[in-house]
Amino acid sequence: MSARFWPLQGGHVITSPFGPREGRFHFGVDIGWPGGSAGLPVYACQGGTVVRAGPARGFGQWVVIDHPDADGGGTTVYGHVRPQAVVGQRVQAGQQVAVIEPDRAFNGGVAPHLHLEWHRHVLSPPGPEVLDPLPLLAGAAYPSPEGAPMTVFGIDVSNNQDAFDFACAAAEGIAFATHKVVEGTWRDPFWPRAREQMAAHFEYWGGYIYCRLDTHPDTEADAALDYIGDTSVPIQLDYEDDHGTPSLADLLARADAVRARGFALLPVYLPRWYWREHMGAPDLSGLPVGIWNSHYVTGTGPAHLLYPGDDHSGWEAMGGKHIDILQFSSTAAIGGQLIDVNAVRGGRDQLARLFRKEPDMQLTDIVINKDGNPVTVADLLASIDMHASWVVDQLAGPDSRHQPGPTLDPTGWPQLEDKSVVDSVASAHGKIDAVTETLAQVQDKIQVILEHLVTDPYVGRHRKPEGQ
Ligand SMILES: [Zn+2]
Repeated sequence: MSARFWPLQGGHVITSPFGPREGRFHFGVDIGWPGGSAGLPVYACQGGTVVRAGPARGFGQWVVIDHPDADGGGTTVYGHVRPQAVVGQRVQAGQQVAVIEPDRAFNGGVAPHLHLEWHRHVLSPPGPEVLDPLPLLAGAAYPSPEGAPMTVFGIDVSNNQDAFDFACAAAEGIAFATHKVVEGTWRDPFWPRAREQMAAHFEYWGGYIYCRLDTHPDTEADAALDYIGDTSVPIQLDYEDDHGTPSLADLLARADAVRARGFALLPVYLPRWYWREHMGAPDLSGLPVGIWNSHYVTGTGPAHLLYPGDDHSGWEAMGGKHIDILQFSSTAAIGGQLIDVNAVRGGRDQLARLFRKEPDMQLTDIVINKDGNPVTVADLLASIDMHASWVVDQLAGPDSRHQPGPTLDPTGWPQLEDKSVVDSVASAHGKIDAVTETLAQVQDKIQVILEHLVTDPYVGRHRKPEGQ
């Protein structure tokens, strides 16, 4: 199935489901945000073409997106919004298309929310062609604030670039880098500097072995280990040499040799033309990692302008292996040089997987809550936030949570003379002190009377019964 996204970020709540409501039928689902939805971004559930954007009866304004079958089919309606997409625009699944209308008057007089409809085929009147969106959104991804996961770009560098400016490349938005370590047993003199620079400027980086077919796989792997000095650097094999006859067996032996020494293996750089024309297009399913293919576009310029797209034929699987990384030009203008440039689909999460780093916790990650149930981090944070608000209100007064900024001026409780709980306890404490003092005085007086009774035998004689 093609990508499907929730129309709001993780942490949203269903404020009114699809179905009978107040004697009528609600042909959509209302989605909001705990604490208010005004102005929140709204995202396309699937890819498609915007067919309506603007005023619509009953909705204030709406956005309607027609989804071709390749994008999952159907038509989705986003009501009570301020459109950002325009009619005729092609949008990606998870791309922002609107914000929630902040004016209650255009939200049916209730708090701002998104009214989402899902039509089976084309935009249809209320009836059986309008479906409950929630079952269709089961398992949908949460959109990121920027929209769909972005394809990211990286570079592979060698002695050919001399002292390459990695800091500049990172500043230009390049997300990952590799640099040649050895070619056969020959050491790239720029590796130690490149390692230092990549570690300083890149989260995702590694080294590569330019495989020499006239060098034994073990000799080559040992040469790399000797030069690197440890196995903390993930290794890319660059398999395109013409000093001999390449083969699947040879490639697998080189991958095994690198892994046997303790290195993590990045996707293997294996251009499709080389695999087909020099290796006879063998089955690659025994390779322990994916492929780093090459397929060059012409011209020069920044990576994002040269990139031929996530649907480009360079991404087609080869030998039963998926393409993880696509080198799409050797003349991209990066870091002040013309250089190889590579794309990774799926953004930084995918980079983290390829470079064997655990991704930072995402709002869409699933964690176990105190009841033992799986929830997203966003939902858990929303729940914690809600409970924290209740605690603030209980201690400081019913509207204290709505104050902007980090300081708190208690709004107070009417039954506590508009004091906060703390101020009320402090006040009560003062009253208790006063009462305690009064009690002590009373006790003293009783003591005096008691002493008087004991020391004066005549006291009370006048009280003897009459008649004696
Ligand atoms: Zn609704």
